[in-house]
Amino acid sequence: METIRCLILGSGPAGYTAAIYAGRAGLAPVLYEGLQPGGQLTTTTEIENFPGYPDGIDANEMMEDLAHQAKRFGAEFRSSIAIKVNLEQMPYTVTFDDGSEVSCHTLIIATGATAKYLGLADEEKYRGLGVSACATCDGFFYRKKTVAVVGGGDTACEEATYLSGLASKVYLIVRKPYLRASKAMQDRVLSNPKIEVLFETNTVGLFGSEGVEGAHLVHKKGTAEETVSDIAIDGFFLAIGHKPNSEIFKPWVHTDEIGYIITEGATSKTNVPGVFAAGDVADPHYRQAITAAGSGCKAAMDAERYLSENGL
Ligand code: NDP
Repeated sequence: METIRCLILGSGPAGYTAAIYAGRAGLAPVLYEGLQPGGQLTTTTEIENFPGYPDGIDANEMMEDLAHQAKRFGAEFRSSIAIKVNLEQMPYTVTFDDGSEVSCHTLIIATGATAKYLGLADEEKYRGLGVSACATCDGFFYRKKTVAVVGGGDTACEEATYLSGLASKVYLIVRKPYLRASKAMQDRVLSNPKIEVLFETNTVGLFGSEGVEGAHLVHKKGTAEETVSDIAIDGFFLAIGHKPNSEIFKPWVHTDEIGYIITEGATSKTNVPGVFAAGDVADPHYRQAITAAGSGCKAAMDAERYLSENGL
């Protein structure tokens, strides 16, 4: 079986940055792009907050640039999807959806997280046309406009608060009669005059001719008091949680209760020697391209040190 010195799973900013650093360090990295080449960013449009692009950059273009940069330093890209790993003993083995199998001395897990959506057909229809799962990425495009955020947790409250600094009005659509967020976040939202919380409300559809122009809502769904209404909005933000893509590693790698991989202190080290995690799969808090890129750099440096310390 082929043995790879530095195997990287994932092709977001974390995976690509790990590949750039590992390539430059002479580790001959092999990167498997996974389900969504380019990662979550490819679902957004323009990136304005990545340092180095004063005029902003198209998200897909930036990911292609990162891929080119990694290839320039010798990273090899492959497109299969990892479906199983065995981290029982070194070298570790990874099995892919095309039936292939490789072994590796170091593994960098940069498989990201997937934002949860409600599952409405309209979310797909208006993806990139008013539907977003990242207020920090796309909020800027809604200056002085009206937006809605779905969710009642800390992320939803944080995003609603962030958006209230840009938009003229923010609806927070919460399915329960209460918020799940921390007390401090709740207070911030409830005392913000720009935010209107719609409790016990579900979104059942979106409408608009070219982009989102409004949402169809149901209040107290399934009860005798059920009512339907429409709100006019320009942007619809999902903040109902993320699912870290860590499932196949869980038999060996420690995660928190949601599934985020736990790393050691400020390093990218997991509890398994030679296995490192970078980007959103290990980050429940920041989830930014720049923080993911930074952690990819750390993972490659940790892998390089591990290989040299173990004479591999
Ligand atoms: P959470 O799981 O905490 O909250 C998800 C919210 O979305 C809940 O209000 C939930 O409703 C709602 N929701 C889920 N599915 C649906 C659906 N299908 N339709 C409508 N609403 C839905 O996720 P978060 O991303 O908010 O937070 C994840 C973790 O990260 C938490 O532990 C949080 O505390 C932490 N965090 C901390 C921050 C901080 O400290 N600054 C900032 C951001 C996150 P319901 O309540 O009914 O289940």
